[in-house]
Amino acid sequence: MNTGTHTQGLGAQRARHLLESHRDARHQQLLDLTRLPVDEREPADEAVIETTLQVLAEIDLALGRLGAGRYGVCTECGRPLPTERLEVLPYAATCVDCTPGAGR
Ligand SMILES: [Zn+2]
Repeated sequence: MNTGTHTQGLGAQRARHLLESHRDARHQQLLDLTRLPVDEREPADEAVIETTLQVLAEIDLALGRLGAGRYGVCTECGRPLPTERLEVLPYAATCVDCTPGAGR
């Protein structure tokens, strides 16, 4: 069962579950948003689509890190990410200190 891959904070299974549920939710959101033809969309919808695509890319990267056993540590400073942060934002790549404009 445990293959020796150390995952900080969240367990690997919990992390994968959270990432997959976020991915499914975003995917569904994207389908809803892109149902209208481009010329009938509101500019605000375009902005949400943009953000959603970005989040989906971040989720993919996080799943990649999980597979590589590098999930749960800040990609900038290498410190473990707090479990509470990963519960809310399972695809977070950096800690609050390394995230531009976060909470300051
Ligand atoms: Zn950091």
